[in-house]
Amino acid sequence: MIKRAVRAGNITIGGGSAISVQSMTNTDTADINSTIKQLNALKNAGCDIARIAVRDAVDVEACKTYIDKFDMPLVADIQFDYRLAVACADIGFAKVRFNPGNTSSSGVRELVAACKANGCPVRIGINGGSLEKDIKAKYGGITADGLAESAIRTIRLLERESFSDIVISVKASDVRLTVDAYTKLDKLCGYPLHLGITESGAGQDAIVKSAAGIGSLLLDGIGDTIRVSLTGDPVREVEVGRSILHAVGLDKNYVEVVSCPTCARCFYDLESLVTRCRAITENVRKPLKIAIMGCVVNGPGEASDADVGIAGGKDKAVLFRKGSVIRTMPVKEAEETFLKLVEELIVE
Ligand code: SF4
Repeated sequence: MIKRAVRAGNITIGGGSAISVQSMTNTDTADINSTIKQLNALKNAGCDIARIAVRDAVDVEACKTYIDKFDMPLVADIQFDYRLAVACADIGFAKVRFNPGNTSSSGVRELVAACKANGCPVRIGINGGSLEKDIKAKYGGITADGLAESAIRTIRLLERESFSDIVISVKASDVRLTVDAYTKLDKLCGYPLHLGITESGAGQDAIVKSAAGIGSLLLDGIGDTIRVSLTGDPVREVEVGRSILHAVGLDKNYVEVVSCPTCARCFYDLESLVTRCRAITENVRKPLKIAIMGCVVNGPGEASDADVGIAGGKDKAVLFRKGSVIRTMPVKEAEETFLKLVEELIVE
């Protein structure tokens, strides 16, 4: 279902808006230069919203020095102390991530007052690892029903104070559990959903876990903003997040390079041509489809919707547009002409 629109700075989450990609800095927040450097790297990689862990008053002071200079919305990630969340709303963070589950009613009231005064939404982050004891006992452990119930219970704490600028997540590190929890929650609440597989790890397995979980939810129309959690440089999280949006067709503003897996019918170095083509196109934000195919027999037909393509033969290769052959040339010449055509399309 289309969720309520929640504004975080210049980005709208929910309300049918484009799915935003989030990440989180892993520098020392008090180290202003390193954090700004990483925020810029995240922005350049295509990050829409960046989160920063704010641990104490020193971190608040550090963030204060640049918070109003970034056009990318910044989110304060707060654990336990609502007063830090209040301070972050007051200094201009675009959103705070805070779970008011263990906060006194007066604390929740104070937080809501600060968020209302500053137009600052709250993201409630329910995690499998910190699920309430009574809910765990009720469901016999960490379950999708339990995660959804915890989310609804926490939402009510803010609704009681007439606050509805809420984004919600129900993350676990198990893909099936996470997908089931979001699917249940999607039916139960109208607030935008922040998707992620928490603590998914590092490397290829972690990327596949995130792609499987986040991707399957997005394909079912569930989710309004995503964060891929990976151990290591957060820029990679943004790259993977964008790739997930590309794969599920929710971000078409990029150059898709399709290439065949090759087989005995391929007689040229297709892989190195793919590498050269990707180097030219990887940071281009333009909806284009480029095809690099191994053979003339199947290539143009298999990539009939490509804006431009090449298919190799024994000595010659063909260049094609939208499935129709436009030129036949010796392979080496065809490769260079193809790359020139790609460059022309990019700047057109
Ligand atoms: S396009 Fe040609 S070379 Fe590539 S996998 Fe298909 S049949 Fe093989």
